[in-house]
Amino acid sequence: MIGIGIDIGGTNVKLAAFTAEGRQLAESRFKTESGRGRADFLRRLTEAARALKGSLAGKAVSVGIGMAGDIDPDAGVARFSPNLCGWRDLPVAGPLEKALKLPCFIENDANMAAWGAYAAEPGAGGNAIAVTLGTGIGGGMILNGKLYHGSHGSAGEIGHFIIRPGGARCGCGRRGCLEAYCGSGAVMAAARARVKNEEAFVRKYADPARPRFNTVCLARAARAGNAAAKKVWRDMGESLGMGLAGAVLLFDPERIILTGGVSRAADCFLPAMKKVFAAQSIATPFKRVKVKVSRSADLGVMGAALYGLHRAAGR
Ligand SMILES: [Zn+2]
Repeated sequence: MIGIGIDIGGTNVKLAAFTAEGRQLAESRFKTESGRGRADFLRRLTEAARALKGSLAGKAVSVGIGMAGDIDPDAGVARFSPNLCGWRDLPVAGPLEKALKLPCFIENDANMAAWGAYAAEPGAGGNAIAVTLGTGIGGGMILNGKLYHGSHGSAGEIGHFIIRPGGARCGCGRRGCLEAYCGSGAVMAAARARVKNEEAFVRKYADPARPRFNTVCLARAARAGNAAAKKVWRDMGESLGMGLAGAVLLFDPERIILTGGVSRAADCFLPAMKKVFAAQSIATPFKRVKVKVSRSADLGVMGAALYGLHRAAGR
Protein backbone atom coordinates (compact mmCIF):
# COMPACT_ATOMS: atom_id res chain seq x y z
CA MET A 1 0.00 0.00 0.00
CA ILE A 2 1.43 3.29 -1.11
CA GLY A 3 0.18 6.76 -0.32
CA ILE A 4 0.82 9.85 -2.40
CA GLY A 5 1.55 13.02 -0.46
CA ILE A 6 1.29 16.52 -1.89
CA ASP A 7 2.49 19.68 -0.19
CA ILE A 8 1.19 22.85 -1.84
CA GLY A 9 3.18 25.92 -0.87
CA GLY A 10 3.33 29.41 -2.26
CA THR A 11 6.59 28.72 -4.12
CA ASN A 12 6.78 24.98 -4.74
CA VAL A 13 4.48 21.99 -4.94
CA LYS A 14 6.14 18.82 -3.71
CA LEU A 15 4.77 15.38 -4.45
CA ALA A 16 6.08 12.09 -3.08
CA ALA A 17 5.01 8.49 -2.65
CA PHE A 18 5.48 6.74 0.70
CA THR A 19 4.94 3.30 2.15
CA ALA A 20 2.82 3.04 5.31
CA GLU A 21 6.11 2.81 7.26
CA GLY A 22 7.14 6.23 5.94
CA ARG A 23 9.71 5.09 3.40
CA GLN A 24 9.87 7.43 0.41
CA LEU A 25 9.71 5.75 -2.99
CA ALA A 26 9.45 8.51 -5.56
CA GLU A 27 9.12 12.25 -5.69
CA SER A 28 8.57 15.16 -8.01
CA ARG A 29 7.98 18.88 -7.73
CA PHE A 30 6.96 21.89 -9.74
CA LYS A 31 6.83 25.65 -9.27
CA THR A 32 3.48 26.83 -7.95
CA GLU A 33 3.40 29.95 -10.16
CA SER A 34 -0.11 30.82 -9.03
CA GLY A 35 0.05 33.95 -11.23
CA ARG A 36 -0.77 31.67 -14.16
CA GLY A 37 -4.29 31.23 -12.79
CA ARG A 38 -6.42 28.69 -10.97
CA ALA A 39 -7.33 26.47 -13.91
CA ASP A 40 -3.71 26.32 -15.07
CA PHE A 41 -2.55 25.42 -11.56
CA LEU A 42 -5.11 22.63 -11.16
CA ARG A 43 -4.16 21.25 -14.57
CA ARG A 44 -0.44 21.12 -13.66
CA LEU A 45 -1.24 19.64 -10.25
CA THR A 46 -3.36 16.90 -11.80
CA GLU A 47 -0.71 16.12 -14.42
CA ALA A 48 2.05 15.84 -11.83
CA ALA A 49 -0.06 13.61 -9.56
CA ARG A 50 -1.10 11.43 -12.48
CA ALA A 51 2.53 10.99 -13.56
CA LEU A 52 3.57 10.02 -10.03
CA LYS A 53 0.68 7.58 -9.71
CA GLY A 54 1.64 6.08 -13.07
CA SER A 55 5.15 5.34 -11.82
CA LEU A 56 3.83 3.27 -8.89
CA ALA A 57 2.56 0.25 -10.81
CA GLY A 58 -1.02 0.56 -9.54
CA LYS A 59 0.00 0.35 -5.88
CA ALA A 60 -1.11 3.84 -4.85
CA VAL A 61 -4.30 3.74 -2.79
CA SER A 62 -4.74 7.31 -1.51
CA VAL A 63 -3.69 10.92 -1.80
CA GLY A 64 -3.14 13.34 1.07
CA ILE A 65 -2.76 17.04 0.37
CA GLY A 66 -1.37 19.63 2.74
CA MET A 67 -1.93 23.26 1.82
CA ALA A 68 -1.27 26.53 3.61
CA GLY A 69 -4.29 28.66 4.37
CA ASP A 70 -7.87 28.20 5.45
CA ILE A 71 -8.86 24.71 4.38
CA ASP A 72 -12.24 22.98 4.49
CA PRO A 73 -11.29 19.29 4.87
CA ASP A 74 -14.87 18.03 4.53
CA ALA A 75 -15.58 19.84 1.27
CA GLY A 76 -12.01 19.32 -0.03
CA VAL A 77 -11.77 23.02 -0.73
CA ALA A 78 -9.14 25.67 0.03
CA ARG A 79 -11.36 28.46 1.36
CA PHE A 80 -8.58 31.05 1.36
CA SER A 81 -4.95 30.75 0.23
CA PRO A 82 -2.96 33.90 1.10
CA ASN A 83 0.19 32.43 -0.49
CA LEU A 84 -1.53 31.57 -3.77
CA CYS A 85 -2.74 34.94 -5.04
CA GLY A 86 -5.33 35.02 -2.25
CA TRP A 87 -7.50 32.47 -4.10
CA ARG A 88 -10.83 31.77 -2.49
CA ASP A 89 -12.84 28.55 -2.61
CA LEU A 90 -10.46 26.55 -4.77
CA PRO A 91 -11.71 22.96 -5.12
CA VAL A 92 -8.64 20.71 -4.83
CA ALA A 93 -9.57 17.24 -3.57
CA GLY A 94 -12.57 16.78 -5.88
CA PRO A 95 -10.83 17.35 -9.25
CA LEU A 96 -7.86 15.21 -8.16
CA GLU A 97 -10.09 12.41 -6.96
CA LYS A 98 -11.89 12.41 -10.30
CA ALA A 99 -8.69 12.45 -12.35
CA LEU A 100 -6.76 9.87 -10.31
CA LYS A 101 -9.65 7.66 -9.19
CA LEU A 102 -8.17 7.59 -5.68
CA PRO A 103 -9.58 8.96 -2.41
CA CYS A 104 -8.07 12.41 -1.75
CA PHE A 105 -7.90 14.19 1.60
CA ILE A 106 -6.87 17.80 2.08
CA GLU A 107 -5.85 19.51 5.32
CA ASN A 108 -3.99 22.59 6.43
CA ASP A 109 -0.25 21.98 5.92
CA ALA A 110 0.53 22.39 9.62
CA ASN A 111 -2.00 19.64 10.38
CA MET A 112 -0.28 17.35 7.87
CA ALA A 113 3.12 18.10 9.39
CA ALA A 114 1.61 17.35 12.80
CA TRP A 115 0.35 14.01 11.56
CA GLY A 116 3.77 13.25 10.06
CA ALA A 117 5.52 14.02 13.34
CA TYR A 118 3.01 11.90 15.22
CA ALA A 119 3.01 8.94 12.84
CA ALA A 120 6.81 8.89 12.56
CA GLU A 121 7.14 7.92 16.21
CA PRO A 122 6.34 4.28 16.76
CA GLY A 123 4.57 3.29 19.95
CA ALA A 124 3.50 6.83 20.76
CA GLY A 125 0.38 7.61 22.77
CA GLY A 126 -2.70 9.25 21.36
CA ASN A 127 -2.49 12.89 22.50
CA ALA A 128 0.09 15.15 20.92
CA ILE A 129 0.54 18.74 19.88
CA ALA A 130 2.90 19.34 16.98
CA VAL A 131 4.32 22.79 16.44
CA THR A 132 5.96 23.78 13.16
CA LEU A 133 8.58 26.45 13.76
CA GLY A 134 9.54 28.32 10.61
CA THR A 135 8.80 31.70 9.07
CA GLY A 136 5.38 31.20 10.58
CA ILE A 137 4.31 29.03 13.48
CA GLY A 138 1.76 26.34 12.78
CA GLY A 139 0.14 23.91 15.12
CA GLY A 140 -1.70 20.65 14.84
CA MET A 141 -3.33 18.46 17.43
CA ILE A 142 -3.77 14.74 17.60
CA LEU A 143 -6.39 13.87 20.19
CA ASN A 144 -7.14 10.23 21.01
CA GLY A 145 -5.19 9.16 17.93
CA LYS A 146 -7.15 11.41 15.55
CA LEU A 147 -6.25 14.65 13.88
CA TYR A 148 -8.41 17.30 15.48
CA HIS A 149 -9.54 19.97 13.00
CA GLY A 150 -12.08 21.79 15.10
CA SER A 151 -15.57 22.63 13.91
CA HIS A 152 -14.46 24.52 10.79
CA GLY A 153 -11.00 23.13 10.01
CA SER A 154 -9.26 25.96 11.87
CA ALA A 155 -8.06 24.31 15.11
CA GLY A 156 -4.44 24.53 16.20
CA GLU A 157 -3.64 28.12 15.15
CA ILE A 158 -1.15 28.34 17.95
CA GLY A 159 1.02 30.93 16.15
CA HIS A 160 -1.65 33.55 16.72
CA PHE A 161 -2.11 33.11 20.45
CA ILE A 162 -1.61 36.56 21.93
CA ILE A 163 1.27 36.37 24.37
CA ARG A 164 1.81 40.14 24.75
CA PRO A 165 -1.23 42.37 24.25
CA GLY A 166 -0.26 45.41 22.19
CA GLY A 167 3.14 43.83 21.45
CA ALA A 168 5.02 43.26 18.21
CA ARG A 169 3.13 43.39 14.90
CA CYS A 170 2.32 39.95 13.43
CA GLY A 171 1.98 38.98 9.76
CA CYS A 172 -1.73 38.40 10.44
CA GLY A 173 -2.18 42.12 11.11
CA ARG A 174 -2.62 41.87 14.87
CA ARG A 175 -0.16 42.61 17.65
CA GLY A 176 1.53 40.40 20.23
CA CYS A 177 1.01 36.98 18.59
CA LEU A 178 3.39 34.11 19.43
CA GLU A 179 4.56 34.16 15.79
CA ALA A 180 5.64 37.79 16.17
CA TYR A 181 8.19 36.60 18.75
CA CYS A 182 9.11 33.08 17.69
CA GLY A 183 8.82 33.01 13.89
CA SER A 184 12.21 33.01 12.15
CA GLY A 185 11.70 36.59 10.92
CA ALA A 186 11.03 37.79 14.47
CA VAL A 187 14.01 35.88 15.86
CA MET A 188 16.34 37.37 13.24
CA ALA A 189 14.93 40.88 13.80
CA ALA A 190 15.76 40.48 17.50
CA ALA A 191 19.22 39.24 16.54
CA ARG A 192 19.75 42.17 14.18
CA ALA A 193 18.95 44.59 17.01
CA ARG A 194 21.61 42.99 19.23
CA VAL A 195 24.41 42.04 16.84
CA LYS A 196 26.52 45.11 16.13
CA ASN A 197 28.46 43.92 13.10
CA GLU A 198 26.47 41.45 11.05
CA GLU A 199 29.23 40.74 8.55
CA ALA A 200 31.78 39.94 11.22
CA PHE A 201 29.19 37.81 13.03
CA VAL A 202 28.50 35.77 9.90
CA ARG A 203 32.22 35.39 9.21
CA LYS A 204 32.82 34.16 12.73
CA TYR A 205 29.85 31.86 13.29
CA ALA A 206 28.13 30.82 10.04
CA ASP A 207 28.86 27.58 8.27
CA PRO A 208 31.51 28.66 5.71
CA ALA A 209 29.55 26.80 3.01
CA ARG A 210 26.43 28.91 3.80
CA PRO A 211 27.59 32.29 5.03
CA ARG A 212 24.21 33.81 5.90
CA PHE A 213 22.76 35.74 8.80
CA ASN A 214 19.96 33.31 9.64
CA THR A 215 18.70 31.10 12.46
CA VAL A 216 21.28 28.39 11.65
CA CYS A 217 24.08 30.95 12.04
CA LEU A 218 22.46 32.32 15.20
CA ALA A 219 22.27 28.83 16.71
CA ARG A 220 25.94 28.17 15.92
CA ALA A 221 26.84 31.47 17.60
CA ALA A 222 24.87 30.57 20.74
CA ARG A 223 26.55 27.16 20.90
CA ALA A 224 29.93 28.90 20.61
CA GLY A 225 29.01 31.05 23.61
CA ASN A 226 28.08 34.35 21.91
CA ALA A 227 26.14 36.32 24.53
CA ALA A 228 23.86 38.22 22.12
CA ALA A 229 22.82 35.02 20.35
CA LYS A 230 22.22 33.23 23.65
CA LYS A 231 19.99 36.08 24.84
CA VAL A 232 17.93 36.06 21.62
CA TRP A 233 17.30 32.31 21.91
CA ARG A 234 16.51 32.63 25.63
CA ASP A 235 13.87 35.27 24.88
CA MET A 236 12.48 33.15 22.05
CA GLY A 237 12.29 30.09 24.35
CA GLU A 238 10.46 32.07 27.02
CA SER A 239 7.91 33.36 24.50
CA LEU A 240 7.41 29.88 23.09
CA GLY A 241 6.97 28.51 26.60
CA MET A 242 4.29 31.12 27.30
CA GLY A 243 2.41 30.30 24.11
CA LEU A 244 2.62 26.54 24.56
CA ALA A 245 1.69 26.72 28.24
CA GLY A 246 -1.82 27.75 27.18
CA ALA A 247 -2.04 24.72 24.90
CA VAL A 248 -0.76 22.38 27.64
CA LEU A 249 -3.31 23.71 30.12
CA LEU A 250 -6.07 23.27 27.54
CA PHE A 251 -5.15 19.78 26.27
CA ASP A 252 -2.82 18.08 28.78
CA PRO A 253 -0.95 16.32 25.94
CA GLU A 254 1.51 13.45 26.33
CA ARG A 255 3.89 15.00 23.87
CA ILE A 256 4.77 18.28 22.24
CA ILE A 257 6.63 17.65 19.00
CA LEU A 258 8.65 20.49 17.54
CA THR A 259 9.35 20.45 13.83
CA GLY A 260 10.20 22.93 11.06
CA GLY A 261 13.52 24.62 10.27
CA VAL A 262 13.85 26.55 13.54
CA SER A 263 13.36 23.33 15.56
CA ARG A 264 16.96 22.50 14.56
CA ALA A 265 17.99 25.16 17.12
CA ALA A 266 15.97 23.52 19.92
CA ASP A 267 19.08 22.98 22.06
CA CYS A 268 19.42 26.79 22.18
CA PHE A 269 15.85 27.67 23.22
CA LEU A 270 14.46 24.60 25.02
CA PRO A 271 16.03 25.32 28.43
CA ALA A 272 14.26 28.71 28.59
CA MET A 273 11.01 27.18 27.39
CA LYS A 274 11.20 24.43 30.01
CA LYS A 275 11.82 27.02 32.73
CA VAL A 276 8.49 28.65 31.85
CA PHE A 277 6.85 25.22 32.06
CA ALA A 278 8.49 24.52 35.44
CA ALA A 279 7.13 27.78 36.87
CA GLN A 280 3.47 26.86 36.20
CA SER A 281 1.18 26.41 39.20
CA ILE A 282 -0.93 23.58 37.79
CA ALA A 283 2.19 21.51 37.63
CA THR A 284 1.20 17.96 36.64
CA PRO A 285 0.64 18.40 32.87
CA PHE A 286 3.91 20.34 32.60
CA LYS A 287 5.88 17.75 34.55
CA ARG A 288 4.50 14.89 32.51
CA VAL A 289 4.51 16.31 28.99
CA LYS A 290 7.45 15.14 26.86
CA VAL A 291 8.92 17.75 24.55
CA LYS A 292 10.47 16.15 21.49
CA VAL A 293 12.18 17.47 18.42
CA SER A 294 11.20 15.56 15.29
CA ARG A 295 14.02 13.90 13.39
CA SER A 296 12.98 15.51 10.15
CA ALA A 297 12.39 19.24 9.75
CA ASP A 298 10.29 18.68 6.62
CA LEU A 299 7.33 16.47 7.42
CA GLY A 300 4.73 18.09 5.18
CA VAL A 301 4.73 15.64 2.26
CA MET A 302 5.28 12.54 4.37
CA GLY A 303 2.56 13.59 6.82
CA ALA A 304 0.15 14.16 3.93
CA ALA A 305 0.90 10.75 2.42
CA LEU A 306 0.55 8.90 5.73
CA TYR A 307 -2.60 10.80 6.63
CA GLY A 308 -4.16 9.89 3.27
CA LEU A 309 -3.36 6.21 3.94
CA HIS A 310 -4.77 6.43 7.46
CA ARG A 311 -8.02 8.01 6.28
CA ALA A 312 -8.41 5.68 3.31
CA ALA A 313 -7.99 2.67 5.62
CA GLY A 314 -10.82 3.97 7.81
CA ARG A 315 -13.27 4.27 4.92
ZN1 LIG B 1 -0.83 36.77 14.34
